[in-house]
Amino acid sequence: PPRRETFAGLVWDRLVDSATDARMHYGRLLLPNKQKNKTVTKPSVVVLGSGWGAHALIKVLDCDLYDVTVISPRNAFAFTPMLAAASVGTVEFRSLLEPVRVANELVDYVQASATEVDLERQTVTCVSDLGRVDDEAPVQFSVPYSYLVIAVGATTNTFGVPGVREHAFFLKSVVDARKIRAAIVNRFERANLPTTSDEEKLRLLHTVVIGGGPTGVEYCAELNDFLTSDLRRKYPRLVPLVKVTLLQSGDAILTAFDDTLQAAAMDNFKSSSVEVVLGARVVNIGPTSITLKDGTEVDYGMAIWAAGNGTTPLVKSIITSLPDQAGARGRLRIDDWLRVKGATNVFALGDAACNDDDPLPATAQVAAQQAAFAGRLLNRDYCLSCEIPEASSPRKGISKLIKGPGDDDGPARVAKPFQFLSLGLLAYIGRDRALAQVELGKKKIFLSGAATRLLYDSVYATKQVSFRNRVLVLVDWAKTKVFGRDLSQF
Ligand code: FAD
Repeated sequence: PPRRETFAGLVWDRLVDSATDARMHYGRLLLPNKQKNKTVTKPSVVVLGSGWGAHALIKVLDCDLYDVTVISPRNAFAFTPMLAAASVGTVEFRSLLEPVRVANELVDYVQASATEVDLERQTVTCVSDLGRVDDEAPVQFSVPYSYLVIAVGATTNTFGVPGVREHAFFLKSVVDARKIRAAIVNRFERANLPTTSDEEKLRLLHTVVIGGGPTGVEYCAELNDFLTSDLRRKYPRLVPLVKVTLLQSGDAILTAFDDTLQAAAMDNFKSSSVEVVLGARVVNIGPTSITLKDGTEVDYGMAIWAAGNGTTPLVKSIITSLPDQAGARGRLRIDDWLRVKGATNVFALGDAACNDDDPLPATAQVAAQQAAFAGRLLNRDYCLSCEIPEASSPRKGISKLIKGPGDDDGPARVAKPFQFLSLGLLAYIGRDRALAQVELGKKKIFLSGAATRLLYDSVYATKQVSFRNRVLVLVDWAKTKVFGRDLSQF
């Protein structure tokens, strides 16, 4: 069975991480020139990405030990669990963001995408569009590394369905959420034009969400709240024409949750303006209608594709270039210490990686715990390029392996393999109700309803990555309650 971390272990590790963080930041306040005066060459850690994994890593990585460079096309971390709320204006986009340079002032940040990794020469090839004029080629450069951390996440998987990229909206990033927010108001204003026919109004005001996982469900929930609390008052003549349909190809929504919670979500949608259609496989998305496998045509004004994770081009290129990655299913194969199989000084974590022996879900919780683990391994100076003898694999009874420096002339220091501690699942289902599946050791507790909404809000308020973000989110919630969501377009 998969190994699992204990709660006490997780708390202890958090304390050690906080001590490192405090030493780095407050130590610098006391000795402000400590970094500048340092002339020793340090090994370099290059981190690819600025999402959950990368952000959690740079929060704990000791910059006195390493020169850390973050490479990502986005210069800020985004709190993805609240993207659905941001896409309808319940919270503001900037409240969910923390710039890389604020997360850790000691890291260097380069705004670029990594396109290739040369594992032999230990360099990453990057391209940047910044400053590009018209059809000039993007700037290309390479960055050397001693250790590389791949935390580039995943793309949206379209499953090869024609028309998805051209006609549907995604909900993967802040840019996507901004587009959705503008498109909702756009559909209402178009429907409100005196020249729009009744038939066209019905089409424009029909939102179809494809995918009954947490993203699709939470988007429907937020949209339903937006309709009932704001749009109903602002567009009273149009609201009776509004329809939201959630299409799910399987026979249940929120499949990671217990059956009782799935049923609670279905019941909640039944009494809202969201219609859930199960067993509906989308085979084509045209400009104004969606075709299902059984031939049904569904006219729509806005389609949101929330149907799963795909592989980034960088991860694809590493998988094809490394023989040890044979059999990888869209995510880099990693060992028990999160090292890429076939490249021991390269870590991969979050949605970009998977350990075949202990597959974990693609969630922020996993990415953040993995990142803290990788940071600790590096901070405690484990010799990560050591080969692990097959015979002493932890699955064959020995639980600790990576040797520390000075293995030949002193006692070896060893590192425990990564263990995930599941803290449970949460989902917002609309109408001020939420679901919670809390895991306490082997015991699972299932909660749903209005009181669970309070739990949901308090968890998300406390999980914000900084005090600033926490305050901004609380202020946004209060603003929405008092003034409603903002409908202005600019
Ligand atoms: P990401 O956070 O996706 O970060 C990837 C980073 O890599 C980004 O900064 C990207 O710009 C960068 N990047 C991409 N390509 C390159 C490249 N070539 N070079 C350099 N950088 C690159 N999980 C939960 O646990 N709970 C939730 O409630 C939850 N809700 C979610 C809601 C939504 C709408 C979404 C989209 C996801 C949600 N998730 C949730 C999942 C969670 O966000 C992901 O599992 C998590 O973000 C994975 O972290 P990551 O670091 O692997 O990737």
